[in-house]
Amino acid sequence: MTDVVIIGGGPGGYEAALVGSQLGGRVRLVDSDGLGGSAVLTDCVPSKTLIATAEIMTMVERAGALGIRLDGSADRSSVSVDLGAVNRRVLDLAQQQSRDIEKQMENAGVEVIEGRGRLDGTNTVVVTRPDGTEERLDTDIVLVATGSTARELPSARTDGERILNWTQLYDLTELPEKLIVVGSGVTGAEFASAYRALGAEVVLVSSRRLVLPGEDADAAMVLQDVFERRGMQIMSQSRAESVTRDGDEVTVTLTDGRTVTGTHCLMAVGSVPSTTNMGLPDAGVKVSGSGHIEVDKVSRTSVRNIYAAGDCTGVMPLASVAAMQGRIAMWHALGDAVAPLDMSGVASNVFTAPEIATVGVTQAQVDSGEVRALSYTLPLKGNARAKMQEIREGFVKLFCLPTTGIIVGGVVVSPAASELIHSLSIAVSERITVDNFAHDFTVYPSLSGSFAEAARRLHGHSDEQLDMGFEPIL
Ligand SMILES: Cc1cc2nc3c(=O)[nH]c(=O)nc-3n(C[C@H](O)[C@H](O)[C@H](O)COP(=O)(O)OP(=O)(O)OC[C@H]3O[C@@H](n4cnc5c(N)ncnc54)[C@H](O)[C@@H]3O)c2cc1C
Repeated sequence: MTDVVIIGGGPGGYEAALVGSQLGGRVRLVDSDGLGGSAVLTDCVPSKTLIATAEIMTMVERAGALGIRLDGSADRSSVSVDLGAVNRRVLDLAQQQSRDIEKQMENAGVEVIEGRGRLDGTNTVVVTRPDGTEERLDTDIVLVATGSTARELPSARTDGERILNWTQLYDLTELPEKLIVVGSGVTGAEFASAYRALGAEVVLVSSRRLVLPGEDADAAMVLQDVFERRGMQIMSQSRAESVTRDGDEVTVTLTDGRTVTGTHCLMAVGSVPSTTNMGLPDAGVKVSGSGHIEVDKVSRTSVRNIYAAGDCTGVMPLASVAAMQGRIAMWHALGDAVAPLDMSGVASNVFTAPEIATVGVTQAQVDSGEVRALSYTLPLKGNARAKMQEIREGFVKLFCLPTTGIIVGGVVVSPAASELIHSLSIAVSERITVDNFAHDFTVYPSLSGSFAEAARRLHGHSDEQLDMGFEPIL
């Protein structure tokens, strides 16, 4: 029986443990902070649970236009959020999810060991238990899946009360009067969107011209417009130099000397990999300048029997990618059939209102000439279902290869884009052509009708076909 020790109980670790055990390995999983990792306890699950409440508030905003009256009023001022209750639900749900994973491990025969793990050479993991005692685990295979933690700036130290990182938000019992969000990447944009919907005044400090610098620029533009229309103040091309607190007030000082004050500040300035003091270089494991563990497409590190998965590798900070890297590591290590990690079909989503979901080739790749592809963007405002639901912004964008018409990517900006993107993911991974895609039935009326229409617009796959100049009835 092959001995496997996994360090880290997030999606990279626990999904690997399930596969390792299924393939007949003796799997021991070392975790310091609770099964599910940051994904379940502090990051994905809590944020998306909070956002579920924010989504209802966004719907309430549209409700007046749909003829709904709350206490006789057409606006949302009669609805408020009890943040204490929301956060209690968030934390309960995260704990419940963690317990469910614990049960799964038990059922799969995985031995879970509480403590911090570090390497001592290539075939031993030393675990420091919560009571300070140490245990040595000799093993054939090691998987490091220790994730990452919120980046802390020396000039903007979090205090857990007024200056917060995203893991500390759930202790709030009252809605911040004025929340300053520093950082307009995915995490900053999601929380800014959610807190604005919950009713807080929000200022977003963004170092670039547009929010979400890593995402499709057309999508980011829609979101920035929506944010501003909803009353969010966006300080573009502004960098925070420091954050200080004086009693109940926080002050963010920008590098150009301007200041902005609020009641709370959320620091969303990225993450750092949890790879220090783990004996990695001593064991021969190569770590990059940023602290990420270097891996190949089957999750192997520079040491033959040591694998790594998830945020500690910096491949792509998504729970789904971490989980796939972990499974691939086990398939490879335990001799099962394995295909290398393929990033071309990874679907991702920004959980703002509206959501932004993407898969495959990006506009930036097309614009830079890296990929030759045709694209068609269809605004949702012509879609019958969108009109019925008072969805006024958003679009569907498809990318296909010239000549063959094979769909290679897409962007969806709409409510529930995270659900809608799946058909495009399938199209990309199965190399479906726009013509085949367009011939499949969609429901009338439906937002997905716009996908088929965008595919129809790409019929013929030549530039002249793309500007048809009319709004379809969908
Ligand atoms: C606010 C936020 C929201 C997000 N939302 C989403 C989302 O909606 N969808 C999505 O796909 N991704 C999302 N992500 C990204 C996602 O959380 C990460 O990509 C994912 O958690 C990575 O999984 P992991 O297994 O690598 O690490 P983690 O989930 O971080 O788990 C690693 C675990 O290892 C433990 N550990 C660390 N060092 C040791 C050690 N030495 N010994 C023992 N245990 C150790 C840690 O305590 C942790 O519990 C979000 C991230 C953030 C910050």
